[in-house]
Amino acid sequence: MEVTEVQVNLCDNSDERLRAYCAVIFDGCFVVHNVRVIEKAGGLLVAMPSRKVTGKCGQCGFKNPIDANYCSNCGNDISKLKKTQSDSKIHFDIAHPINAECRQMIEREVLAAYNAHVGNGG
Ligand SMILES: [Zn+2]
Repeated sequence: MEVTEVQVNLCDNSDERLRAYCAVIFDGCFVVHNVRVIEKAGGLLVAMPSRKVTGKCGQCGFKNPIDANYCSNCGNDISKLKKTQSDSKIHFDIAHPINAECRQMIEREVLAAYNAHVGNGG
């Protein structure tokens, strides 16, 4: 399997660490959306698509993102829900490589596409 195309959509928010959303195409026939390029100290990080863990509102049962303070259905204060989760468990990956070789290949291709897109060729 190989990365055949990376589509880069830059994020305009210069105050955010999130630099771009990418769609990564494998073997010309399988696309993974929402691969993110994130700036961190010392370089760029490629983050796999993830979604927020949800927690049920104690009042109405509506599933909200675990880091929300109020239920988006009934407005109940659900800020205590997130205190039961550590920060690293707020998101979980939807799709991700399962070995280092594949991860490195994806990171290399995504960062090369990103750098080409922003003109950081050297
Ligand atoms: Zn609710």
